[in-house]
Amino acid sequence: MKKAKLTFVGGAGGPTGSNFLFETEDKKILIDCGMTQGGEGDEATNKEPFAYDPASIDTLFVTHAHLDHIGRIPFLVKSGFRGKIYSTPPTRDIVELTFSDALSIMDHEAQKKQTEPMYTPEDVRQTLTLWQTADYHEEIKVADDLTITLRDAGHVLGSAMIEVKYGSKKMLFTGDLGNSPSPLLKDTENVSGIDYLLMESVYGDREHEKMDERRNLLTDLIKKTIKEKGVLIVPIFSLERTQVLLYEINELVEKNEIDSIPVFLDSPLGIKITDVYERNRKYLNETAQSQFKHGDDIFKFPRLKFTTDVMDSKAIHGIPPPKIVIAGSGMSNGGRILHHEKDYLPNPNNTLLLIGYQAAGTPGRRIQDGEKKIKIYGEEVNVNAHIVVINGYSAHRDTNGLFDFVEGMKDDVQKVFVVMGEPKASLFLSQRIHDYLGLKSFVPKNGESVTLEF
Ligand SMILES: [Zn+2]
Repeated sequence: MKKAKLTFVGGAGGPTGSNFLFETEDKKILIDCGMTQGGEGDEATNKEPFAYDPASIDTLFVTHAHLDHIGRIPFLVKSGFRGKIYSTPPTRDIVELTFSDALSIMDHEAQKKQTEPMYTPEDVRQTLTLWQTADYHEEIKVADDLTITLRDAGHVLGSAMIEVKYGSKKMLFTGDLGNSPSPLLKDTENVSGIDYLLMESVYGDREHEKMDERRNLLTDLIKKTIKEKGVLIVPIFSLERTQVLLYEINELVEKNEIDSIPVFLDSPLGIKITDVYERNRKYLNETAQSQFKHGDDIFKFPRLKFTTDVMDSKAIHGIPPPKIVIAGSGMSNGGRILHHEKDYLPNPNNTLLLIGYQAAGTPGRRIQDGEKKIKIYGEEVNVNAHIVVINGYSAHRDTNGLFDFVEGMKDDVQKVFVVMGEPKASLFLSQRIHDYLGLKSFVPKNGESVTLEF
């Protein structure tokens, strides 16, 4: 019998900051090394020294390219980590773009606050030299008795669950789990024979609308925008949500379900990531691949404009409504969306559409919770526009999807650790798993460790 120690370094007790340490007798591996996001003191938290010695870690496995899973990796390297980093090839491509975007945001913040940024371009360069790629199902041998396999999580392009085989047992780290079926991605892979499960719970206590329902809601909203000559603004995450929304509008345009309307993707990062999707078509689901094969660029349609330059971005204001403006950041805590919110939120003819998770403490969350005044660039802005939330576009499974995922593997699972959710979401899901599946389920806190038998 072998023993391994699992430490919930980050990502327990909250939905962000994913960082788990798995120690065998002679190897130390990390799963993710993400930033904590959404709260006031996060910048300081992210710059704190690691709770372990980064130089002692052998290998880091990365589930996917969201900042709450990768954001501190260059800081880990800056702090002495020199092991290998593994992810799927699309994740590696997106990570490079995301780091360069994060660097410019951090630089800007550091200058404003007269502080040091968390890492430099040199740290990012060094990080990328350590980065290796492995495809889904390829076995990565860390030691004779320790093998890692990446499995498709269906959450964003390239997203993986990390399956750890140690001795005679297996543990699965889910990363974030996709809201399958997705219009673009393959479904979350079925995994069996798992003894220990560590799973996300962002929507552990909430249900999403179904796919038809969400498309109907979007269609009605665009029709209303056209009829009332309004502006529909969408704060959006550059990865996945942007591509899904482009895909959905492309479908509506091609099937003549909506009248023609100018659409702007005002997100340099979103534009570059859309290009990564185009180059990595083989990771998309069969329907999306066959659409490409038949000559349809599923992310492009007439009157859609990608605005990379600042001048083009500013010119959007001069285009008369109706129009749709899609811009980052997804939680309205930075990026070009702020200019559009300042311009368009005071007008009751306009609509702000929220289709992504809004972390507690962010401006996006305050708008979602109904605040009528918000501060943008130090100025008070009245929120008179309609606020519409469609959760069905979430890239995360809802409570039922998460429950079903565990139910599918319940015969083998001995222990479940519910993490990466707000406490009430994690507790709700954990209780449900315990009560209805009879499994031992825990909601650990950051800093806790458990010893597991393998
Ligand atoms: Zn994610």
